[in-house]
Amino acid sequence: MVKKCYNTCFVLQDETFTLLVDAGGGNTILNRLDEANVDLSQLDAFFITHTHTDHILGAVWVMRALVMSQRTQPLPVYGHDEVIKTLQLILSHTFTPGMYQALMQKVVFCEVTDGQKVYHRDHELQFFDIHSSKTKQFGVKLTFPDGETLSCLGDEPYQPVNHEVVVHSDWLMCEAFCLYRDREIYHPYQIHHSTAKDAGTLAEQLGVSHLVLYHTEDTQLASRKALYTDEAKQVFSGKVYVPDDMESIEW
Ligand SMILES: [Zn+2]
Repeated sequence: MVKKCYNTCFVLQDETFTLLVDAGGGNTILNRLDEANVDLSQLDAFFITHTHTDHILGAVWVMRALVMSQRTQPLPVYGHDEVIKTLQLILSHTFTPGMYQALMQKVVFCEVTDGQKVYHRDHELQFFDIHSSKTKQFGVKLTFPDGETLSCLGDEPYQPVNHEVVVHSDWLMCEAFCLYRDREIYHPYQIHHSTAKDAGTLAEQLGVSHLVLYHTEDTQLASRKALYTDEAKQVFSGKVYVPDDMESIEW
């Protein structure tokens, strides 16, 4: 569990499409979206990977803010069956009936299955089951209009069953819970996480060009970027990014 960073959610954006993936664990998501100049009215889609607290509880606040928003088109909220069921359950117990009714004008819940593709103009989203042994979780592959691809593996290690989907992605987002050299301190493998070196090795094997490491421990935030980048680069020939909260990566 982290207390000093919010690195479980992100926005993917180009000229015509804005996607929010996960929402962190609380109402900090609303500040972060403000600071990033992302208005809820301009979101084209919202995808929630799984039901853990650090990913879904912020979604309740996003829903709360959507009720008050000027949004005219319903926002598609994508998630697998357990995500949609859980979010609706929390909302039904925490929103007044009137608020819940108002929300239904602002969102449309879209339950997705393993391998399903949806399209937003020329952007393709493909959802895939990451085969987590803890909680059902989906990752997403986004294909941009020019054919460039970004695969988000969610917050657990890659499973070879998803090789076909993510191989040769231009961008790979991968959790890196800690450094390989610190594995005896944090025991990442016991809690279904991997290290910066593991992520780098995977990215090299999959032939990706850009590796984004996120979802880390927070005990060495000041030096994290340099340390994690250095360890991943020892085994990966592409470019490594270890974004701090609110950092933008341009491409
Ligand atoms: Zn998580």
